[in-house]
Amino acid sequence: MALIVHKYGGTSMGSTERIRNVAKRVAKWARAGHQMVVVPSAMSGETNRLLGLAKELAPAKTNSAYDRELDMLAATGEQASSALLAIALQAEGMPSVSYAGWQVPIKTDNAFTKARIESIDDARVRADLMAGRVVIVTGFQGIDPQGNITTLGRGGSDTSAVAVAAAMKAAECLIYTDVDGVYTTDPRVVPQARRLKTVSFEEMLEMASLGSKVLQIRSVEFAGKYKVPMRVLSSFTPWDIDIHEEAASGTLITFEEDEKMEQAVVSGIAFNRDEAKISVLGVPDKPGIAYQILGAVADANIEVDVIIQNLSKEGKTDFSFTVHRNDFARTMDLLKDKVMPVLGATEVSGDAKICKVSIVGIGMRSHVGIASKMFKSLSEEGINIQMISTSEIKTSVVIDEKYMELAVRALHKAFDLDQA
Ligand code: ADP
Ligand code: ASP
Ligand code: MG
Repeated sequence: MALIVHKYGGTSMGSTERIRNVAKRVAKWARAGHQMVVVPSAMSGETNRLLGLAKELAPAKTNSAYDRELDMLAATGEQASSALLAIALQAEGMPSVSYAGWQVPIKTDNAFTKARIESIDDARVRADLMAGRVVIVTGFQGIDPQGNITTLGRGGSDTSAVAVAAAMKAAECLIYTDVDGVYTTDPRVVPQARRLKTVSFEEMLEMASLGSKVLQIRSVEFAGKYKVPMRVLSSFTPWDIDIHEEAASGTLITFEEDEKMEQAVVSGIAFNRDEAKISVLGVPDKPGIAYQILGAVADANIEVDVIIQNLSKEGKTDFSFTVHRNDFARTMDLLKDKVMPVLGATEVSGDAKICKVSIVGIGMRSHVGIASKMFKSLSEEGINIQMISTSEIKTSVVIDEKYMELAVRALHKAFDLDQA
């Protein structure tokens, strides 16, 4: 008997029929003798629907009064699915109770729409488990020090689940979703993608941060920090499959390098269309330029990702970097109004139609020539590389958005990731 956390994503909770299936699966685990805590997402499409209503009434703003209401609104999606799941479990003859984030409580900071979990008090949940109830902890939401409802950023119920598992020292956190594990790349883009039986925590962290939306990055950070055993698996297998078979399915996130069974140099390919590129042209090449440009951007609380500075010609240089597309217009305005006049740059240009494609693998540490193989493969497809960024276990390139799928497929093949 163990304490197990299950998390079910939006598609898995997408209709009353699916919720009934989730309830039957959870009841099976409880009847096998486990203490069960379940973290559901909102029903699929619900978060987008709610945020869309807000946008109809007022265009997106960046002030905390507006963001506070977005969290009030978006948190209702998860609250509804939590209550529905508890009702479905009770209908299966399984005692169950659901709690909103504030009732647990899951305490967060006050960064509305992207709050961070600070602590979880598990006393109430433990008391219910001891009384033989399945406890539903509402995903994606928490409460800030002033008592406001907060949400954890899109995809945040993964993080709720792992944080609850860490706080309660659960034996395992099982993330049930609409694919049967973590693949070498998004199987919706590359049908030849292969499921990984295991993926190292470091690789998963890179893949999540580079755009693989299968797990929210903060959930992987939590799993790493607290060494939470974690598995990604399908909620679409029949609910009554053998529990041992189910428990061994999907993809296990491992913390030991030598546990890694698939010894490919490159384990996966991630991509992301969420960034935009900005270039400041003709800036004088002298000390402090990077600071003057990026310091102003950082002061406006805008995160910068890939950065390049070209060689200087006649004392002038070009400086380019990427930001999130949501920050694109704001960054362009800031540079044109405040930075360009001071620096004496000739032009600020922007391009939102870019994407970042990355190869990830801990095997890259001990192998040379991996990046050049990537560049060769892209050149054979006639794809121009605009920017490059590397770390020990990844190489990313920024390319024209229209070549994204072509690039991902070519790299998937070049690094022998296609299914046999
Ligand atoms: P949920 O609603 O269950 O949280 P998400 O849509 O957030 O589900 O995440 C699952 C989706 O992630 C899959 O449907 C798949 O399209 C996408 N995905 C992206 N990259 C990968 C990958 N490397 N492996 C598996 N799925 C991936
Ligand atoms: N419902 C939220 C979202 O759509 C959180 C989640 O699904 O994890 O982003
Ligand atoms: Mg998700």
